[in-house]
Amino acid sequence: MEKETSAGAGETASKNFIEIEIDKDLQEEKVASVCTRFPPEPNGYLHIGHAKSILLNYGLAREYGGKFLLRFDDTNPMKEKTEFVESIIRDVKWLGADYEGEVRFASNYFDQMYEYAVKLIKKGKAFVCDLSADQIREYRGTLTEPGKESPYRNRSIEENLRLFQEMKDGRYPDGSKTLRAKIDMSSPNINMRDPVIYRIARMTHHNTGDKWCIYPMYDFAHPIEDGIEGVTHSICTLEFEDHRPLYDWVVREVGFEKPPRQIEFAKLYLTNVVTGKRYIKKLVEDGIVDGWDDPRLVTIAALRRRGYTPESIRMFMELVGVSKGNSSVDYAMLDYCIREDLKLKRPRMMAVLRPLKLIIDNYPEGKVEYLDVENNKENEALGTRKVPFGRELYIEEEDFMENPPKKYFRLFPGNEVRLMNAYFVRCVDVVKDAQGNVTEIHCTYDPETRSGSGFTGRKVKGTIHWVYAPTSIKAAVRLYENLVDEEKGVYNKEDGSVNVNPNSLTVLENARLEPAFEGAKGGDSYQFVRNGYFCVDSKDSAPDALVFNRVVPLKSSFKIKK
Ligand code: ATP
Ligand code: MG
Repeated sequence: MEKETSAGAGETASKNFIEIEIDKDLQEEKVASVCTRFPPEPNGYLHIGHAKSILLNYGLAREYGGKFLLRFDDTNPMKEKTEFVESIIRDVKWLGADYEGEVRFASNYFDQMYEYAVKLIKKGKAFVCDLSADQIREYRGTLTEPGKESPYRNRSIEENLRLFQEMKDGRYPDGSKTLRAKIDMSSPNINMRDPVIYRIARMTHHNTGDKWCIYPMYDFAHPIEDGIEGVTHSICTLEFEDHRPLYDWVVREVGFEKPPRQIEFAKLYLTNVVTGKRYIKKLVEDGIVDGWDDPRLVTIAALRRRGYTPESIRMFMELVGVSKGNSSVDYAMLDYCIREDLKLKRPRMMAVLRPLKLIIDNYPEGKVEYLDVENNKENEALGTRKVPFGRELYIEEEDFMENPPKKYFRLFPGNEVRLMNAYFVRCVDVVKDAQGNVTEIHCTYDPETRSGSGFTGRKVKGTIHWVYAPTSIKAAVRLYENLVDEEKGVYNKEDGSVNVNPNSLTVLENARLEPAFEGAKGGDSYQFVRNGYFCVDSKDSAPDALVFNRVVPLKSSFKIKK
């Protein structure tokens, strides 16, 4: 990631609270260099919130000349899949977060974790407990009441060692025993009340197969993973704040020479957007969206398919910053970032989304002119192209009105407008079908008014875009609105389901593009003049049947509620 591309949040900006803590640790020589990690569970696709965590961790490693690791936290085989492992690696790479060495898997440390558990038992810091899950919950107490000690808490070290070994050997049924840390049942922090650190569960693991029938719990496994890898700063989200004392307990009791340190920050939430793996998964499984990369989602795969760039996402994260307090960021900010990124980089071409035929009566039949048009007025480096012009064109349906309101400066009977990069035309006639729908408009053009000719004779108030009909390329264009019904809120209060906006997707099957679009490939993006930024769909588009997704309109559709 290049700091220089950041929008205003460069080196001079004040440091965030994590940087301040890292500076202190370096100064006090608690650490010699910085090592961070991104530890996803491979149980779904990554979303924009994860991108924040990735870029934060990667950014810190870069800033301090340290290391950034990618590690799968695959200690819960229930929901994990190889498909997710692959998608996550792809997304992390796409974001430009270069991880050090190979991808790591927590499951590769199962042997070490087991040894550390044995070590705790030998220190008298862990015991095998026969209470059921319900009993454990009952004994745990509440925020206001202390817990009760398990009757198995004072088993001898020898007995614990034997029982734990037997748990591992498959001698006991699932759920019949656990290994628990022996800490303090009266701690005000419930996480410290003899937490379970190993459970018996016969599940086939995507990496270790059937080798294990006991699996470590997250709160035990995670600090050990960090410790083994030499992570110095284990950055996680706020819901783990109450788990930090347990994290510190584990790294201390296990005896890491250089214990990692956990620091929490606030999750990224976006307004009117479904984040949360659980909900996205449900939308996918219920078939409400077209897979994990449906362009209406905010998974990284969906953002990529929609046409967002890694640069735009990095810019967004810099603007959002890092904080200790939960809040929601307006989605319009992400839109702003993608517009900023594509503005100078991509060509601006003509595409008509809802075509209406326009005939220039006084233009010679069969004649074609090739107009020189700049690809991007603000960036000469993108060069020019030839755009054909002739008698039969398509314009946008909405650029013509038979009975226009005041201040409508586009085409209507008798009015004159400029055809972008071409000539002035005046509407002289309208053709309608039997139902009274306008099917064709007829104009005359003034050959004196060609763009770039220096014509100053008179002015027009409207400029509209167009496409020369005979060589136009037909394409499908998808327009999006928020997936979520903004009036109703993201989630339905009764059952937690998502309130889906019925207009979240509009498909226009008959868009017409200028011929310069020929050869457009999946992932290519363009500005369609006046209509926004569009990206060729990487799944459904074919060379002879192009499909475009609108990334974002040109102007913010963001409305201030009155
Ligand atoms: P979700 O909240 O969507 O279910 P998760 O926390 O279960 O996600 P993990 O795979 O466990 O997903 O997350 C990997 C890392 O990403 C964790 O360090 C987690 O704290 C971080 N993370 C998850 N969601 C966000 C978010 N919205 N903003 C910032 N970081 C996040
Ligand atoms: Mg999680």
